[in-house]
Amino acid sequence: MKVLFAAAEGSPFVKTGGLADVIGALPKALIAQGVDARIMLPKYKTIPERYVSAMRFVGHTEVPVGWRSAYCGLFELEHEGVTWYFLDSEYYFGARDGSLYGHYDDGERFAFFNRAVLQLLPLADFQPDLIHAHDWHAGMIAPLLTRHYRHDPFYARIRTIYTIHNLRYQGVFPYSILDELLGLDAGYFHPDRLEFNGGVSFMKGGIVYADCVTTVSRTYADEIRTPYFGEGLDGALRARGYALTGIVNGIDEESYNPAADTCLAHNYRTGLTKKLANKGALQRELGLRRSNKTPLIGMVTRMTAQKGLDLIAHVLHELMAQDDVQLVVLGSGEPHYEGLFGATAQHYADKLAVYIGFDECLARRIYAGSDLFLMPSQFEPCGLSQMIAMRYGSVPIVRETGGLKDTVLAYEEDTGEGNGFTFANYNAHDMLYTIRRAASLYRQPEHWKRIVASAQRGDYSWRESASRYKELYGQVLS
Ligand code: ADP
Repeated sequence: MKVLFAAAEGSPFVKTGGLADVIGALPKALIAQGVDARIMLPKYKTIPERYVSAMRFVGHTEVPVGWRSAYCGLFELEHEGVTWYFLDSEYYFGARDGSLYGHYDDGERFAFFNRAVLQLLPLADFQPDLIHAHDWHAGMIAPLLTRHYRHDPFYARIRTIYTIHNLRYQGVFPYSILDELLGLDAGYFHPDRLEFNGGVSFMKGGIVYADCVTTVSRTYADEIRTPYFGEGLDGALRARGYALTGIVNGIDEESYNPAADTCLAHNYRTGLTKKLANKGALQRELGLRRSNKTPLIGMVTRMTAQKGLDLIAHVLHELMAQDDVQLVVLGSGEPHYEGLFGATAQHYADKLAVYIGFDECLARRIYAGSDLFLMPSQFEPCGLSQMIAMRYGSVPIVRETGGLKDTVLAYEEDTGEGNGFTFANYNAHDMLYTIRRAASLYRQPEHWKRIVASAQRGDYSWRESASRYKELYGQVLS
């Protein structure tokens, strides 16, 4: 079975969030189960030079972009047993500074990318049985395949799967993109097809046209069929009925392994002794008071409303002023959240450390050095951070939504079961109460050892989920 992944980011080459982790890990897990999985990504400027210099140039071709065509080169790199293809366009990706998305011409950039994925397959000499497209950036592959490529025998039998990693980001662009950039006629501008609130939606392209649609946890698959979580697309999702399934993400256990993680001050497998040494190192690194007794809460997050930062904003002073806890926050995103955390940290210098930015190694030291990991998300399609945290023995405090609900089980003092702390309502004081309960159990070693052990024992690998994808691929192909 041959599967091509098409996505806008992938670890270790480019990453802004969990999508990159998935693209970096799932193909490996599929290959281990006998699937020939490969990946196509844009060749961004920010890909580190050590990878770029190892890439092999395969060739180039012209990609139709509306009435004209644009150069696209193809590079190939074998990395940890996986074949990655990089689509090279200086104009759209290679010469762009700054973030991966959010450019004024994202519609054009990703229209090009979607078309280029299809156009370059023959050059790659890879004829997949299935294209597995991820998130809005690859949402137009299915409609483009149907409209422009089906008649060609090379493409005639290719099936498509579309995975929603986050329904909030939809890639909606003006009507003009349809004809001018995608080469699709006005018939596609229909509520049952690509039209969305007067624009053209990449996300809808994947949802409506792929042979099968998945998302990254069972609970999120249920949630997004409702108006509250559906971001205006719940109707389109309900219309797909059983073609929409939820398969929970895993984490790359080789990469996120506290026993071998080179970012850590002290490597460890299980237990608390070495973990406490990491906590001490983190407190020193970030200028916090050295204390084993004070529970240290970690956060590594994109700073957006989705992540529940409004709840934290509401009770941050209360928590800092009244409780013997420390909080370490690493993240970047919306300026008002960055400002809020930055400013509050100045009031509580020995208890609150805030690092605005993206730092892979610091993130890992926070997973290793924190006792608790806070994720009070408003919604969370899957969430990887809570699983990474558990693998590193940092006990999650989460709101019961999406993948957080599916992966974190509330600790019960009576039975000793559970691997974290949860609350249901999107309410700041429910969160605060849960943080306080967690902090109090932290001070009761007989409970604490049990919770940490159960968090660390969990299976967060891709094995089970990769086999579910493989099964689904089989169903789609048959
Ligand atoms: P999302 O994809 O919504 O951002 P996930 O929990 O699925 O959330 O995945 C987030 C991933 O990105 C994790 O690997 C997390 O460690 C990483 N991450 C998020 N923010 C940062 C940051 N500022 N620095 C380093 N890593 C980060």
